[in-house]
Amino acid sequence: MSWENEKRICPHCGIEFMPNAHNQKYHSEECKQAAENKRWYQQNKEARKKQITEQRRQKREERRKLLVDRMALAGTTYLNEQIALGNPQIDLTNAWRKFLPEGTPQADEKAAMLAFVRGTELAAEMHRVNALMRGHPLDDSPLPDEA
Ligand SMILES: [Zn+2]
Repeated sequence: MSWENEKRICPHCGIEFMPNAHNQKYHSEECKQAAENKRWYQQNKEARKKQITEQRRQKREERRKLLVDRMALAGTTYLNEQIALGNPQIDLTNAWRKFLPEGTPQADEKAAMLAFVRGTELAAEMHRVNALMRGHPLDDSPLPDEA
């Protein structure tokens, strides 16, 4: 059976059609165009998604580096704090969030993050909570770099 007598199914709309050329894949120009547009959109979507994922990864890395530096100043390590919280896998880069009241505006969240990594009240509070969770008595003494 040659291609002229071979029924085909348009991969875009699903209509059955008889081809006019041996390499005709879509039943119409419109379907061919629509399928190309869809493919282009999908490829772009993937690229955008990859870009956003990469930006988020970089921000996470930056936050983590700030935290690691901050923790070194406080005489502890990232892993120590994870273990203190009972979970060596926990992501501490967002740990400061739990000290924020619900519904805090994003701008205030950024300020709180900065306050946290710079070792002001939020950091001190986190260390108090960590100390409590470790079973140590509440210690209100200032952090080493605040003394
Ligand atoms: Zn079609």
